Amino acid sequence: MSQSSYHAGRHFLQIPGPSPVPDRVQRAIAKPILDHRGPEFQELSKGVLDKVKGVFKTNNPVIIFPSSGTGAWEAALVNTLSPGDHVLMVETGQFATLWKSMSEKLGLVPEFITTDWRSGVDAGVVGERLKADTGHKIKAVCVVHNETATGCRSHIDQVREAMDSASHPALLMVDTISSLAVMDLRHDEWGVDVTISGSQKGLMLPPGLSFTAVSDKALEASKTAKLPKAYWSWADMLANNSNGFYPYTPATGLLYGLDVAIDMLNEEGLDNVFSRHERLAEATRRAVNAWGLEVLCAKPSDYSPAVTAVLVPDGHNADAFRKLALERFNISLGTGLGKVAGKVFRIGHLGDTNELTIIGALAGVEMALGLAGIPHRKGGVAAAMDYFADVGRQAAAAAAA
Ligand SMILES: *Cc1c(COP(=O)(O)O)cnc(C)c1O
Repeated sequence: MSQSSYHAGRHFLQIPGPSPVPDRVQRAIAKPILDHRGPEFQELSKGVLDKVKGVFKTNNPVIIFPSSGTGAWEAALVNTLSPGDHVLMVETGQFATLWKSMSEKLGLVPEFITTDWRSGVDAGVVGERLKADTGHKIKAVCVVHNETATGCRSHIDQVREAMDSASHPALLMVDTISSLAVMDLRHDEWGVDVTISGSQKGLMLPPGLSFTAVSDKALEASKTAKLPKAYWSWADMLANNSNGFYPYTPATGLLYGLDVAIDMLNEEGLDNVFSRHERLAEATRRAVNAWGLEVLCAKPSDYSPAVTAVLVPDGHNADAFRKLALERFNISLGTGLGKVAGKVFRIGHLGDTNELTIIGALAGVEMALGLAGIPHRKGGVAAAMDYFADVGRQAAAAAAA
């Protein structure tokens, strides 16, 4: 059989971002390029800057940089902090670790609370650390809402409570790059000062936009922060955004896409979007349990609705398994990052994804486990199907009642 360069059917992109882009969004992005200083752009831009606030549950501005999510990490730090400032971070996994490294490169002093990468943030530990900081040396608490490397979520409302009960004035910064439009996020209500996100995960867009929701307190801090900034200046961006424009060329095509993606989220209803993700995640975990394999996240209250990391048994390599799954079944699974490289593979179930996509993906995984000789039991797909059917029966009964 000769290698063909065309693979029929859709590629199963089951990595935890970039996630598949719906046709409706693709078509919006494909519109002709427009003048980013003209009236048509101004109207699009004003509309998008306004409606994106709903996704963050904020009445404050949301800044959209043409950048990956990492750019918004940097913007958050350089706009609010000064050289030598201490920041409290929690090592939930590889993404938290990268944000911490960035803070060091920028001249900040991170205090890193370590974990075993199998749970989200322990708000109690954050609270204790803040209580001990009587001199208020810590200027910001930075946490990752959904640690994409491990499939563990953190409870931001609990972190806020811990900060309040320690009466600590630090800013709260939250990375929601893989949680926005996947699980609930309430920027204003939870008192988050800087919420950071990206386009290519729950928002169903291609990579290329970052988002930053800012509180009044963060804006106040930005007036005196001394870390150097130019491209990432919030002030320049906000001044231009006030009439719909940008200090430099925005990613106009992606903004067309964003406009449509937000409409789609609102048409489904954010609460329905969140419960769909919970359902797909639960089905995935049931499949993993049926296979007799272990989910990396060890704390059920922290299970991620966006991604499930699966441990492969000792003596087996998760990347060799992923390679086989791609070659045989045209499915991309997430690789293990950092400390868990080779030990886990990740099944993304976020964005434009539904029950049958997940059943197809789990079938690909189950077949590839067999081909890779990874010890497991059959029946994972069947367990996921049973769960979806049960949910369907309950929904029908509720509708009839
Ligand atoms: C994907 C991701 C990032 C990195 O985003 P880029 O767009 O690749 O810069 C950071 N944090 C989390 C939690 C992520 O999932």
